[in-house]
Amino acid sequence: MSWEQEIATAFRKIEELVSEGFLTEEQAQRLESVSEKYQFFLPRYYASLIDKSDPMCPIRLQAIPRWEESLSKKEEIADPLQDLQHQPVPRITHRYANRVLLHLTPNCSMYCRFCFRKSLLNELKSDLFSGALTDAFQYLKNQTEIQEVIFSGGDPFMVSEGALQQTLQALSHISHIKRVRFHTRVPVTLPSRVNSTFVDALTSTRFRPIVVTHFNHPKELTHQALEALFRLREKAVLLNQSVLLKNVNDEAHVLIQLCEKLFEAGVLPYYLHQLDSAQGTSHFYVDEDRGRAIVDEMRKRLPGYLVPRYVIDIVGDSHKREV
Ligand code: SF4
Repeated sequence: MSWEQEIATAFRKIEELVSEGFLTEEQAQRLESVSEKYQFFLPRYYASLIDKSDPMCPIRLQAIPRWEESLSKKEEIADPLQDLQHQPVPRITHRYANRVLLHLTPNCSMYCRFCFRKSLLNELKSDLFSGALTDAFQYLKNQTEIQEVIFSGGDPFMVSEGALQQTLQALSHISHIKRVRFHTRVPVTLPSRVNSTFVDALTSTRFRPIVVTHFNHPKELTHQALEALFRLREKAVLLNQSVLLKNVNDEAHVLIQLCEKLFEAGVLPYYLHQLDSAQGTSHFYVDEDRGRAIVDEMRKRLPGYLVPRYVIDIVGDSHKREV
């Protein structure tokens, strides 16, 4: 199936999951308030990886809403990394001195249930994504200390090849920009999108792109995902960032298997991210002591280059901090 067909046939309403056997009617009814608050979008490819007989299937937990999302805890905030407070012009987040985030699209190939931009992709969408890119390009030209542009969620792999190429061309004319980096879940949840036309557009300028994939569990490294990575690795630097998620990957043996499979696919495990306190995500929280114990165990059983750095974003810091 082409990626356009995948988008056209994706699940968009929670009720659709009942007839396909992912949820009972009662479970779907319980999720009404969640679907009013947060978007739901699930491609059939990623849904096909769900073990329907396992209520705690790690793919299910990442993809299908749970009633816990409607709980609002005081420590959870809408914009945990303060994207909106570091927005000098529309579509730019400038938090670190020599690199910026450029937000191309609010669209994602799936709305991950643990997303730290959950509110920014939902009720606050227009705050982060409205406005033409012209002002952003002008800002980048004027700020000569900026060396790297990072394309981050929504998912930059969801823009058209034409729009991507135009953006990269505009950036390639700004001489102080040395690197472009893409953070994407598309190879995980919609690998058919990473076709050769897209890879050509991604690599059509002077930049050798850095692509940071977001695989969280070894089950996600399917034949289709490996094909997407194979197409990318010829022309891009591939790193992976996982988020530490309760009941998904909070076991050393799961992350060890993930890191080994990533390496076989030509991807270096780079970061293991402590979950940010975003609204509607506390049921995924793993405390830092447990996280450290998991990483210690990984160190005993893997060579150093396969152990990701366990990091946390602290608002106000000039870089991510080791946990
Ligand atoms: S792809 Fe990234 S930005 Fe989009 S919902 Fe998933 S985690 Fe959030």
